Amino acid sequence: MSTLYVVDHDRGEITDAALEGLTSARALDPGAAAVTVGGDGDGLAGMLAEYGATTVHQIHHDELADYAPAAWGDAVVQLIEATSATAVLSVGSERGNEVMAHVAAVLDLPVVANCIEIATGDAWEMTRVRWGGSLHERARLEAPIKLATFALHTTEAAPADTPGAGAVAEFVPELGLDAAVTRIVDRVTTEEGVTLATAPVVIAGGRGVGSEEGFAPIDELAELLGGAVGCSRVVTNNGWRNHKFQVGQTGTVIAPEVYIGCGISGAIQHWVGMMASKNVIAINTDPAAPMVTKADYAVIGDLHEVVPAVVDEIKRRRG
Ligand SMILES: Cc1cc2nc3c(=O)[nH]c(=O)nc-3n(C[C@H](O)[C@H](O)[C@H](O)COP(=O)(O)OP(=O)(O)OC[C@H]3O[C@@H](n4cnc5c(N)ncnc54)[C@H](O)[C@@H]3O)c2cc1C
Repeated sequence: MSTLYVVDHDRGEITDAALEGLTSARALDPGAAAVTVGGDGDGLAGMLAEYGATTVHQIHHDELADYAPAAWGDAVVQLIEATSATAVLSVGSERGNEVMAHVAAVLDLPVVANCIEIATGDAWEMTRVRWGGSLHERARLEAPIKLATFALHTTEAAPADTPGAGAVAEFVPELGLDAAVTRIVDRVTTEEGVTLATAPVVIAGGRGVGSEEGFAPIDELAELLGGAVGCSRVVTNNGWRNHKFQVGQTGTVIAPEVYIGCGISGAIQHWVGMMASKNVIAINTDPAAPMVTKADYAVIGDLHEVVPAVVDEIKRRRG
């Protein structure tokens, strides 16, 4: 097996998800090579070697400086042809899946996206998540070049016990001026500081919060813990919070160290968005709520009493 792992990065800024994917790729093929597209990715070579990359292919072209999915896909296809790769993997982020979809379309081959298990062989046996995680599908992949992405948060990103050689190999593809059908031309930062997707602690409120104003103690707790506030879809449907706070199948998928669900029942569409949390704490009046029965810790009680009590206790202990 000759494996390429396409690194999701934005002008050289790599995501944790990209390193999770490389950790999974390395487990499948310890000889996997990493691929960075665009010159700004060059600086990642050392880190990719730490995560086990034997070779780092650096694809350079003026058309590739910024993320342009079709052009990135074309460039990766040319690298596949040049290296005779038999497996090409990436992470199931929006960018990873989009580039791999272009690669698959150009090669006219199937791509299996968002895998949580892969057993390699002549044919690959795979399990992948569908419908935002509420369905696990078994797939069998038979193709001369296997194309797949790893679902987000399938594995924790971990440097390799023995770093890869990380030998740098430059590759310059042939791309026409119209290779980039769409391209990122600007970036607007809408959120500063801790974001829902990356916060180490998320305090989420659901219907039990009762109103927009009811979020005040949750906001305060999040601030005290250096965390972010999330919510269920009922909350966004009721207009108590903007959709950007929603966790779940149709919201943001998170994997914080600590998730605290306040007045959230734990419906599957919410659960799939936070089930990768390391520690789940439920605050709920109903001991039979799925969020309570699946949580690591639960407080059975009225969140309007429990959350302010926790806030007061933290303040008291901090003086
Ligand atoms: C296609 C589709 C996509 C969806 N996508 C999402 C998604 O991305 N994210 C999402 O969240 N939902 C999503 N949903 C909706 C989901 O099915 C649930 O309806 C929703 O998650 C329920 O929100 P909730 O837990 O806040 O409300 P409820 O299910 O009504 O639960 C409220 C909970 O609060 C508890 N409670 C009430 N009062 C208090 C109190 N004072 N103190 C403590 N506990 C209290 C109750 O015991 C209950 O457990 C989706 C649904 C569909 C069909």
